[in-house]
Amino acid sequence: MKFQLDHDLHIHTYLSPCSNDPEQNPQSILRYGEENGLRHIVLTDHFWDETVPGNFAWQGWAHISKSLPLPQGEHTRMHIGCEVDMNRDNVIGISRELAEKLEFFVVSINHLHIQMKREEHFDKAWYKEQYLLRWRTLLDSGLPYHKIGFAHPTFRGLAGNLPNGTDHIDILDSIPDSTFRDYFGETERLGMGVEINVKPSEYGESDLERILRVYRIAAECGCHFYGATDAHFPRHLGPRREGILQVIDMLGLTEDQKFRPFAD
Ligand SMILES: [Zn+2]
Ligand SMILES: [Zn+2]
Repeated sequence: MKFQLDHDLHIHTYLSPCSNDPEQNPQSILRYGEENGLRHIVLTDHFWDETVPGNFAWQGWAHISKSLPLPQGEHTRMHIGCEVDMNRDNVIGISRELAEKLEFFVVSINHLHIQMKREEHFDKAWYKEQYLLRWRTLLDSGLPYHKIGFAHPTFRGLAGNLPNGTDHIDILDSIPDSTFRDYFGETERLGMGVEINVKPSEYGESDLERILRVYRIAAECGCHFYGATDAHFPRHLGPRREGILQVIDMLGLTEDQKFRPFAD
């Protein structure tokens, strides 16, 4: 059976500083869930745990938990998670204690566009090394992987401040299939979910296929996937959902390949 996009596991609210839009609130997000037949939605505001040193940008649990208590729909269950960051010293900004408590959260290894200073100039080879090093750090973290999503694996932020809109694709191209197989193989063995968040409308056909190579390898490795709009504003939700549906078709994903962090 074809993969059913009955969830959206990475959505920001106005509590994320890069949203800050009062219309992007739990009630309006729940409405989107109900209108689209979603069973699970996770609010994942940007986050750095107050108890973990090394925060470079984000607010802690006291701030993002202002969403609680979450409204619940007739068909849609809302959950609170967070989008955990990794800093430039490869510290992951969540404590073991909170990780155990949450049902699900996403970890971003590729927010390098907000971590690099304007005056810093590194080449694509450096970013490639960083990408793999940061992924390795996540794989070695010992966090509870069955409740973690690998946020936007092919997001352009992996190219930091490099100026060309396709630099991140060049960097991904420079990673051989065999390396991706090693990393996704381990991602699958550990039980971590892989996020589908690609926006096809941002790419021409051949660039899109270069991006999708990464997910095709993940699928070959037996990885499990979830859909995520990573919406920061209400206007993101519908179009990004359409994009994810296209990608699901292009990859030919089935229900067996779905990441299921929730019991039902
Ligand atoms: Zn992100
Ligand atoms: Zn996000």
